[in-house]
Amino acid sequence: MSAPLFPVFLDLRDRPVLVIGGGAVARRKAQALLAAGARVRVGAPALEPELAALAAQQRIEHLPGRFVPDWLDGIRLVVAATDDAAVNRAAAAAADARGIWTNVVDDAQASTFQVPARVERGPLQIAISSGGTAPMLARHLRERLETLLDDSLGALATLLARHRARIRARLPDLAARRGFFERVLEGTIPGLLRRGEHAGAERLLLATLDAHAPQRAQGRVALVGAGPGDPGLLTLRALRVLNQADVILHDRLVSEAVLALARRDAERIAVGKAVGGDHHATQARIHALMLEHARAGRRVVRLKGGDPFVFGRGGEELEFLRAHGIPYEVVPGVTAALACAAYAGVPLTHREHAHSVRLVTAHARDAADALDGRTLAQERQTLAVYMGVTGLETLAQRLIAHGRDPATPFALVENGSLPQQRVVTGTLADLPHTACAHAVQAPALLILGEVAALAARLHWFGAAPLGAPPRPAAAA
Ligand code: SAH
Repeated sequence: MSAPLFPVFLDLRDRPVLVIGGGAVARRKAQALLAAGARVRVGAPALEPELAALAAQQRIEHLPGRFVPDWLDGIRLVVAATDDAAVNRAAAAAADARGIWTNVVDDAQASTFQVPARVERGPLQIAISSGGTAPMLARHLRERLETLLDDSLGALATLLARHRARIRARLPDLAARRGFFERVLEGTIPGLLRRGEHAGAERLLLATLDAHAPQRAQGRVALVGAGPGDPGLLTLRALRVLNQADVILHDRLVSEAVLALARRDAERIAVGKAVGGDHHATQARIHALMLEHARAGRRVVRLKGGDPFVFGRGGEELEFLRAHGIPYEVVPGVTAALACAAYAGVPLTHREHAHSVRLVTAHARDAADALDGRTLAQERQTLAVYMGVTGLETLAQRLIAHGRDPATPFALVENGSLPQQRVVTGTLADLPHTACAHAVQAPALLILGEVAALAARLHWFGAAPLGAPPRPAAAA
């Protein structure tokens, strides 16, 4: 894929721009440029009536005749809108040679800038571009946004703009100002504007400003579950907290797609534990970072894969925060067991096959050893095992030794919920061999129990489950 376009909003007030062409398309472009305050010159042999009227009123300047490079003198931006593709392209090439940004209407290739589809609410503008690849899609999205965004947003933007200087003067600290804006946006002012009560909204804004304490906001930590990777599995609350964060301390397991939904100017710090790394040092560093940033008045999001309270050391982190008097909240997430089961088509409980589920970890060798083998091996119980792929052999041996049927089905879910998800199925006796044959990599979750057999029929996401490979035939 080629590089994406870089979005900008241009200030064209009093700057000379050139529209080439004298027809209806050129007229629309000239009008849009006039609305942005540009000094518009229109070059064409003849102008359609409305353009001619604008020229007569001296709102635009008419350059008569066919395109000549002299038209480009002093020009900042060109829109080529004649119905002759060759003329447009020649003009675009001449403009580009002089370093002038040019749009050729309906010709992305010949253009050096493109005009986005846009949604306007007063001074607020949303611009949408498909980079010239799918203008229909951009237009469709624009229509959707038009219906989603209330008209009163324009009034809100205008109101905030009118009092911008006053707000800055009263709340010079950025964090305090953000707290104020959040209060305004989540309070009743937008509702007043929706009902057209502009004076009431303005009074309330000023009263809120007077009442808002100018001191720094108190720092706090939100322990947030990021889910298994698919950003659609974030909770609304997690999304909101991510958009208010000043600092995000995230695990390695947290997907890029989830991080992309967070506030753009939040500082991101990867604090992931490398496999085989020094867990104690990593955890101490996480604690120190939470403390440092919260004490500086920042809103810290400690973002963890899955759910923070399921094999996530969330408990330890809260105890640390409590001991240091830092306020905190916890936002649950979809844990890997639930997500992997759902995305592999394996119901964790089932009237006929399983009456309980156990979430266990076999990450550390001792963790697996500490589990009571007999209760683990019980039938009609689903095991969801959070683990490194290396522990499979030991686990399978122990379960069989304690009496779990070697024919018990399993589903091993790698990268659950992500586009690259793979599901590998088989029976307990074949587990280590099968995982190895398919080169299953972390992160992977093992679902063991009668229900795992349902994956073959109920799978719906991504590719069908991979089965056990044939055992190598005994040498003849
Ligand atoms: N707090 C997390 C678990 C952390 S332990 C949660 O609630 O999900 C890390 C283990 O979770 C990994 O070794 C793996 O077994 C499992 N895991 C996390 N994300 C996963 C994913 N997308 N697919 C499969 N397993 C995953």
